Amino acid sequence: MWLLDSFVLEPHFSRTKKEKMRVQNLKCNQCHSLYPVEARYVCERCLGPLTVSYPNQTFDAPLLKQRILAGPQSLWRYADFLPVSQPHPQALPVGFTPLIRAKQLAEIFNVKDVWVKNDAVNPSYSFKDRVVSIALHCALELGFTDVACASTGNLANAVGALSSALGLNHHLLVPSSLEKQKLIASEIYGGLIRVDGNYDQINRLATQLADEYNWGFVNINLRPFYAEGSKTLAYEVAEQLGFRSPTKVIAPIGSGSLYTKIAKGFSEWQDLGLIEGELPAMYGAQPLGCSPVASAFQQGEDYCNPVKPDTIVTSLAIGNPADGANALAVARESGGAIEAIDDDEMRYGVRLLAQTTGIFTEAAGGVTTALLNRLARQGKLTSDDEIVIYITGNGLKTAETIIEGDISSPLIKANLESYQETLMAR
Ligand SMILES: *Cc1c(COP(=O)(O)O)cnc(C)c1O
Ligand SMILES: [Zn+2]
Repeated sequence: MWLLDSFVLEPHFSRTKKEKMRVQNLKCNQCHSLYPVEARYVCERCLGPLTVSYPNQTFDAPLLKQRILAGPQSLWRYADFLPVSQPHPQALPVGFTPLIRAKQLAEIFNVKDVWVKNDAVNPSYSFKDRVVSIALHCALELGFTDVACASTGNLANAVGALSSALGLNHHLLVPSSLEKQKLIASEIYGGLIRVDGNYDQINRLATQLADEYNWGFVNINLRPFYAEGSKTLAYEVAEQLGFRSPTKVIAPIGSGSLYTKIAKGFSEWQDLGLIEGELPAMYGAQPLGCSPVASAFQQGEDYCNPVKPDTIVTSLAIGNPADGANALAVARESGGAIEAIDDDEMRYGVRLLAQTTGIFTEAAGGVTTALLNRLARQGKLTSDDEIVIYITGNGLKTAETIIEGDISSPLIKANLESYQETLMAR
């Protein structure tokens, strides 16, 4: 099955971190226990999630700003805040995606500005390239020759693409029920394994595989490193707005990693004095058929009850979200909210974004745009609001989810008469 069967990287890596890695420790989010820098993601004492901690550094905000502005046009311009300081020479360029002013949306909703962060233009057409890029650089530093993921689709596309560029072997586990476009966009890289099960079941299998084989699972044993990649989505927006934060942010929630790390990114930069003023209110969007975080938010709970996903929004179909509790805290502390969007609203969101900005997003982006629409209709936006919506994936990946059944546009014969008969008669 592998095109490059005989091609395996020389095992010239050592199993300890190299000097290119800036992380000092892994630290438990809950009990603050420290661990060495290795492929580990859960605290042995309290089972809390681990995050990376950096050596204490004093930053000078003006100098830092200059360094960022002079940096490469990729997420590596924020290397001061990432676990690895430099990209591999063969790495695909990730990040520095456009922030687009959506004038028509701002007018429709009567707010100061709506900005669309179009992260669908990364190498594999979703924001997952950010987290995967960071995880793979850490995998190299930690000496892995094989990387893997349990994916709802886009993650497998990203691991396939970016690890192929780096010459790493990869194993991509996805639900067999995924959209064909997403399966093809993984299969093309080799190493695709379709699993008859949902994401949560695949995730459990992946945990067993990670114990059995020496693979770096980007979103499991490398998760503390992986998650850091999403912070760049906050830094980039802040920089693109002129080192300011928006008033409100809307992002999709699957596992909750992206959403919580966007909040962390803004808060880190505020602490350092790189942005002034208030932090944005954080709004999170989930599909109604898989909305454990939205339900817990609405019911005022601190933890999520796992659900069995039943949604066509495959990229957000995670029934037991790893960062659910964290996401709830972020929503409450920032003055935001987490809401559930049904399929019709999602489809409306995809069309609204396409017809007002030209951006064709996948179902997850429809959920995000639909929440903007809902907040506006409910009168929760004000005329001073500057809102950023995070568009995380490309529409061609879920095309058939958006347009059900046959195409409904007019069909004519190739002559003028037919055009006039069909279209002028309307
Ligand atoms: C994975 C994914 C998300 C959700 O990210 P989490 O970090 O799991 O919450 C959102 N949008 C798209 C397109 C995705 O692929
Ligand atoms: Zn702990």
